[in-house]
This record gives sequence, C-alpha cells and structure tokens, in this order.
Amino acid sequence: MKIDEAQLNNLHDVIPDVCPICEYLGIQTIVGVSDVVKGALKYTENYRALQDMVICDTICEHCKMPSAYAVVMNTFGTAINAKLIIPLPQIDSSLAIPKAVEELSNKFVRAYHDAYSAEQMGLSDISGMGYRKALECLVTDYCMKKLNVSKENAENWRLAKLIDQIPDDRIKKVAQASSWIGNDETHYFRQNPDYDIEDLKAWLGVFINYVEMSSRIDEAQELVGHRQSKKFNGEKTPSNH
Ligand SMILES: [Zn+2]
Repeated sequence: MKIDEAQLNNLHDVIPDVCPICEYLGIQTIVGVSDVVKGALKYTENYRALQDMVICDTICEHCKMPSAYAVVMNTFGTAINAKLIIPLPQIDSSLAIPKAVEELSNKFVRAYHDAYSAEQMGLSDISGMGYRKALECLVTDYCMKKLNVSKENAENWRLAKLIDQIPDDRIKKVAQASSWIGNDETHYFRQNPDYDIEDLKAWLGVFINYVEMSSRIDEAQELVGHRQSKKFNGEKTPSNH
C-alpha cells in the first residue's frame, strides 16, 4: 500500500531539516517512499504494538548525499516520528576508550562499540546484553594479562569467580554490581529492578578507569624498580629524583 498525498506532506514534519552527513540546515528532498509496512496491532499484555512504518529516502540539497529514515505512523496513518537508519548515527567522541584498555582487550572494545551503537539506534535490549558482554571481555582479559589467571581457568570459571580475583575490594564490588545488572539485561525477570543500563554503563566506566590507572601505576613501578636495581648494582643513574 502506498501513502497518499496528505501523508507524504506529513513526512516533512517528522524528517529533520539537518543533513546527517554535512549538517547543512536546509531542504532534505524526499526522493522515495516505500510501501507501508503493516504492523501487528495486538494491544494485549503479551504483545507489543508494532506500528505501521515506511522507509523514506532523502537527498541533501547541499552535499547531494542520500539518507534514509524509518518513519513510524499512528493508527490514522499520520507520521509520528522518523529514525535515521542510513547513514548509521555517528559514535560520539565521548566514547574514547583509554589506550591502555584498547591494548588490553580488543574483544572489549568491539563489544563496547557494538553495545553503544545499538543503544544509539534505540535497541536498548540488545545494547544491555552488549554491555554485559563487554564487561565479561574486559574482566577476562584483565585477569589473564594482569593477574596471571591461566587461559584454561579464564575459560572455565564463571564471571563471578574471575571478578573475585580483582585485588582491590572496592573495584571488585563495582564489577560485581555491574555483572548483576548485566545479567538482568539478559534475563526475562530483573533481580535488581532499581538499577538499569545507565548504572551498568557508569560502573563499567569506573572499571575502565581502574584498568587504565593500574596500567599506568605498573609502568611507573617498573621505571622506579629498574632504577633502584641499577643503583643497587652500583651503576650510575640520572641525577633527577
Ligand atoms: Zn548534506
């Protein structure tokens, strides 16, 4: 089913005037609209209402680049909101992950970016599971590379036991709390209904900073230890102290 003239005009009300690529504020010309995808309208406890939707292609009059939006319509066929689907929303720079963490765990970086992208697209269930996986990757790599937990143990131990290896009690609690909320994100029933994905992200942030900090401390300790052993062996060391 195609949308009619009135519905087409209505699309302009919900599609943003700002180009998602060049940020030009001006006319985004609608160049194509898909047939209406009918949603399953079952308003019962067991079903979420899927609303009718069209995919709408636009061209920016400034950079001439195409974009696409998923436009959701209410039961009267009126467009109520538009979500950018192409290009995918940019990862914002606040997501910068410290270099020490990047070096420690590629798997964490990938899972964290995926979770963040899913969150930006409004896929909150998937992003919650993604952050849970990111936590597991970071804890596992931290245990193997910094705490000398063997690969075999890291593979076989549950996340809770890996977290138990973290020497700092306060950080251990942060990781424990994160894992509980993370588990809630993967299960039907929530054990900790007072906490949500925002808490999980905040605690994950604390753990990221801890990994960064402890790597820096290790580097500094290595330098100090190196100079002290030189001194002990009677070698000349630079005079700054
Ligand atoms: Zn543009």
